[in-house]
Amino acid sequence: MSKRTHRPATQLVHAGQIRSDFAENAEALFLTSGFVYDDAEQAEATFKGEIAHYQYSRFGNPTVSMLEGRLAAIEGAEACRATATGMAAVHAAMLSHLKTGDRVVASRALFGSCHWIVSTLLPRFGIETVFVDGGDLDAWRAALSRRTDLVLIETPSNPMLDIIDLRAVADLAHQAGAIAVVDNVFATPLLQRPIEFGADVVVYSATKHMDGQGRVLGGAVLGRKDWIDNTLQPFIRNTGPSISPFNAWIVLKGLETMALRVDHACRSAATIADHLAGKRHIARALYPFRADHPQSALARAQMLAGGTLVTFELEGGKDSAFRFMNALDLIVISNNLGDSKSMVTHPATTTHMRIGAEERARLGITDGTIRFSVGLEDVADLIDDLDNALAVLG
Ligand SMILES: *Cc1c(COP(=O)(O)O)cnc(C)c1O
Repeated sequence: MSKRTHRPATQLVHAGQIRSDFAENAEALFLTSGFVYDDAEQAEATFKGEIAHYQYSRFGNPTVSMLEGRLAAIEGAEACRATATGMAAVHAAMLSHLKTGDRVVASRALFGSCHWIVSTLLPRFGIETVFVDGGDLDAWRAALSRRTDLVLIETPSNPMLDIIDLRAVADLAHQAGAIAVVDNVFATPLLQRPIEFGADVVVYSATKHMDGQGRVLGGAVLGRKDWIDNTLQPFIRNTGPSISPFNAWIVLKGLETMALRVDHACRSAATIADHLAGKRHIARALYPFRADHPQSALARAQMLAGGTLVTFELEGGKDSAFRFMNALDLIVISNNLGDSKSMVTHPATTTHMRIGAEERARLGITDGTIRFSVGLEDVADLIDDLDNALAVLG
């Protein structure tokens, strides 16, 4: 394992590596479901927890361990467990911690499936859930004036790139007796490290920037060793949201280039946001580091760059949005994000269709809103494509 003193880009290449006796340079792919024991005594000692020995890939696997070690290093977390998807990570983090009678407070602007867990799944088990507007600290204070067990936030949020004050909300969560869980997908650990602001648990979809090339699904939960070992691990071990070693290996190798990719995409996103901001047909362009973003000061205080997504609103609603999207040639229409290929999404008719018009209005999502995930193409080609598509609007 690389030393803590190494910088993030170095950790992404080296941290967590476990070399086998063959002394391979690249990380090995241990595509095995089970492991063998020298004798019955070793098996017994393993199951008693007296010795460290891999047992079964649902519980742990060397390739998965390498991914977990690398993610823990880059996050500055004590421990990590990788999962099959980002949603498996969010679900395991919440359900392993909660029980009937508990109370959860969450920011309203959550990824669709996270919203479903809080609004629909948890209440089925007798867990009280409350949503608040993430940017409204008075609303957080009011919601957290009662004993609470878990707080879930996402910042920047999907798709409106709202920023939540990590330090303030983590402090309020702790005063209410809750752990603070942060979905850090949009920022990545390179741009924002929630643990430094007091978060207890950080969750990721590794499907996004970590793989970064649109190949596999994956997720991760990071936090203190005691919580990961004693709260999360028994849940994962016995319910089975484990990541395939193959997918873990893809993500592990994806991480090696993540700093290069995220840095490039952030620069392009900032350039594109500035380009779009003044243009005809663009009602507004949102980007966390632009001075006209309502929370740009907060974004700059807790993030190192503005991220790889730009959200903008076209005048003329759905009709304009669809005509614009259909006129794009290079940029694809897809609901994924954090990919090497640039993609646009129309949240009102796809990712945020199910939450309904009223909730969309509350979140600021209009029929003209477009979410743009900026990829690794030459930024001049992306701007040409955007301009050509805007020209179709007249
Ligand atoms: C994609 C995403 C998830 C879910 O991850 P999957 O890997 O698709 O299960 C959760 N939160 C955010 C913010 C996401 O973008």
